[in-house]
Amino acid sequence: MELDSLYQEVILDHYKKPHHKGVPTGAIQVHHVNPNCGDEITLSLDIKDGIVRDLIWDGVGCSISQASASIMSDLVDGKPVATAQVALKEFTELMQSKGAISGDEDILEDAIALAGVSKFPARVKCALLSWMAFKDAAIQNGAEL
Ligand code: ZN
Repeated sequence: MELDSLYQEVILDHYKKPHHKGVPTGAIQVHHVNPNCGDEITLSLDIKDGIVRDLIWDGVGCSISQASASIMSDLVDGKPVATAQVALKEFTELMQSKGAISGDEDILEDAIALAGVSKFPARVKCALLSWMAFKDAAIQNGAEL
């Protein structure tokens, strides 16, 4: 798999120094796995006044899955649910595009670095794992996504 080298650096940075990674402490914890690759994530968050708060995740797996979790956390934690939903939709579309679209950088920020992954169907689930965990946890905390 070859990704643009600048993008590869962004992914590697998040992989080496993941953001919002720790021991999830929320009352509702979700655990998602990607058996194709062996990626796992446990995630908890809180939603107060329509804002995503206290997102913490822990996980193991490939660099794509771990970097994606770090990037996703930056994009949704501290943001209104509606903003997080826009990012979720944009990223999901990007991953399902098979390389046809490059994504909106204003919305996706560092997640744009994962655009090339959409050309590799086997890795799309790695990139989407944490986003699906976020969606699940947000819904379980009462958000309408
Ligand atoms: Zn993976």
